[in-house]
Amino acid sequence: MTSIRACGQTDTGLAREHNEDCFAIDAESHLYVVADGMGGHSYGEVASRISVDSICTFVSRRRDPSPEDLGPPEEILRSAGYDDQLQPHSNVLKAAILVAQEQVLGAIQEDVSLRGMGTTVVGLHVSDGIAAVANVGDSRIYRIRRGEIEQLSADHTWVHEQVVAGYLSAEQARSHPLRNVVTRALGGESEVAIDVQEMAVEEADLFLLCSDGLTGMLRDEEIIEFLRDEPPLEEACQNLIKAANEHGGADNITVVLVSIVSDPS
Ligand code: CA
Repeated sequence: MTSIRACGQTDTGLAREHNEDCFAIDAESHLYVVADGMGGHSYGEVASRISVDSICTFVSRRRDPSPEDLGPPEEILRSAGYDDQLQPHSNVLKAAILVAQEQVLGAIQEDVSLRGMGTTVVGLHVSDGIAAVANVGDSRIYRIRRGEIEQLSADHTWVHEQVVAGYLSAEQARSHPLRNVVTRALGGESEVAIDVQEMAVEEADLFLLCSDGLTGMLRDEEIIEFLRDEPPLEEACQNLIKAANEHGGADNITVVLVSIVSDPS
């Protein structure tokens, strides 16, 4: 038998006044979310908070629905494009992000001063040994397995598109002046494409969800150095944030670590 342990931390960094990142760990639902808000003044933190809360509420209601609290109906799953090739909980995660998008757009509609706010989101939802992974924007999820780090999510950024097309090297993308331009976010266009994938989890897998305040400061080969050999999660979170700040702390930094551990029973 395996169980899941998780730990998350967020930090404003050294250059920003506000922390517009947001994260959630729902141990009961086995749901882990990181969102990185953007927008004038402090509205980015409104968008990221709305999204994270909305996703957690949607998933937890689907997990344990009571008759008077069924949450949004099946139509939401259908309109999200229910994918028969995916597990039900992967479809729930996808629908939850779609609902989050509606919530962010709804908030903007109610208060025009919020116009322009948006947020990335990356989520991990584990059920029956299957990890559902979904993302919009440039917040990332990695998997560390047997000492190797692998980025599971694709960045929805202009520079990543240029890398895929062969116009930029990954190295050039890291320092490109347009590296922060995201091509997908919640709060933007009313239709948002959500990348969803799933994979079997293995004992000792470690997942890292993070905002670009971590990955902009640290390369993958630097990140893995903090995560080898199953470190205590809280210590690893602290060390990653500390290292990102030591590398400049140019942006808000959020780190969520999710560890698949074997039960002694
Ligand atoms: Ca950021």
